[in-house]
Amino acid sequence: MSFYRVLCLMGAVLTAHAAHSARVGILVNVPPTTPAPVVEALQSETEDNLKDTGLQLIWSFSQEEAAQETYDRVISLRLLGRCVPLRPEPVKNSRVLGFTHISDGTVLPFVEISCDTVLRVMGSGSPRVTPYYPPNEFGRALGRVLVHEMLHVLTVSSTHERDGLTKPAFNRADLTLGNLRLTGRALQRLHRSLGHPDLQAQNGGNQRANAEE
Ligand SMILES: [Zn+2]
Repeated sequence: MSFYRVLCLMGAVLTAHAAHSARVGILVNVPPTTPAPVVEALQSETEDNLKDTGLQLIWSFSQEEAAQETYDRVISLRLLGRCVPLRPEPVKNSRVLGFTHISDGTVLPFVEISCDTVLRVMGSGSPRVTPYYPPNEFGRALGRVLVHEMLHVLTVSSTHERDGLTKPAFNRADLTLGNLRLTGRALQRLHRSLGHPDLQAQNGGNQRANAEE
């Protein structure tokens, strides 16, 4: 897996870090096959989970759009696969839902999410027989994986909590049911880190949100 694959943030202007109401740019790269309602649900779930954090999320879908804005932090999000809400073919080694790159102990702001793995976990053990998934459910699941990875990026840390959106592995229920949220502990870490943006990651290796099986 190549690092530095996403290099289209050159136009983004970084401003000084702010402890509160930090402007976080999310530069989204989705395959053209992704239905718009999936992306909308992804955004909505992400916004909902971060609404009490003081972060202002600014979504951009092109380099030109990103260049119009200024940010405190920038995260590049890439969705991998066709990202059509259909049950995918079973494939090997597909436990990784999403990941964030780490280089020399520092978390890099590049998040990648595997649509096929998310869909596979959504269908794992599901009583549903249809091969189709509602786009809003798929988008919501993607949003949960994104928030997990964003916490790694924004806290510059590989830390996980036992519960909530920062736990190390998600199963079908985590992706599809109820209200999986950030725990108070995760929110505390986030607030601390926004005031100290130069923290180093605690562990090496790429950070992955895994499927729990
Ligand atoms: Zn993780």
